[in-house]
Amino acid sequence: MTDIDTELRVSKIQNGTVIDHVTGGEALHVLSIIGIDGSGGETVSVGINVPSDRLGRKDIVKVEGRELSQSEVDVLSLIAPDATINIIREYEVTEKQCVERPEEVTGVLECPNPNCITNAGEPVDTRFEVLSDGVRCEYCDTIIREDLTEHIKS
Ligand SMILES: [Zn+2]
Repeated sequence: MTDIDTELRVSKIQNGTVIDHVTGGEALHVLSIIGIDGSGGETVSVGINVPSDRLGRKDIVKVEGRELSQSEVDVLSLIAPDATINIIREYEVTEKQCVERPEEVTGVLECPNPNCITNAGEPVDTRFEVLSDGVRCEYCDTIIREDLTEHIKS
């Protein structure tokens, strides 16, 4: 490992969020959950498949100047159940939170059923009940089992 690698890995952010212990390979999905595609100008650093004692390999996402909403954390927990969320203020960790599998997720996923009321242009937030192996739309009962990340609202 070179010094440059070390520095990139531990580079600190002044204010924002560090999402650590993300399941290896899921960092880019985490970025779509929190709606970051680079166009907003946020400073973001991403480590993918970083060696981890606990997980073998993990991803890390650091976002400057941004904290996560509860809905974002809820969806995040479905794809990265071991994630820890660190809120940074003035270079210090002021809050550390482990994600928990929620009973429902609202607003971040979209329903794949084109006839669902949540796709009808109505001011209705999507609501999905979390099942053991997927999520179920509370309006039309459509179940998403796989590729949850393809149903993240853009
Ligand atoms: Zn639906």
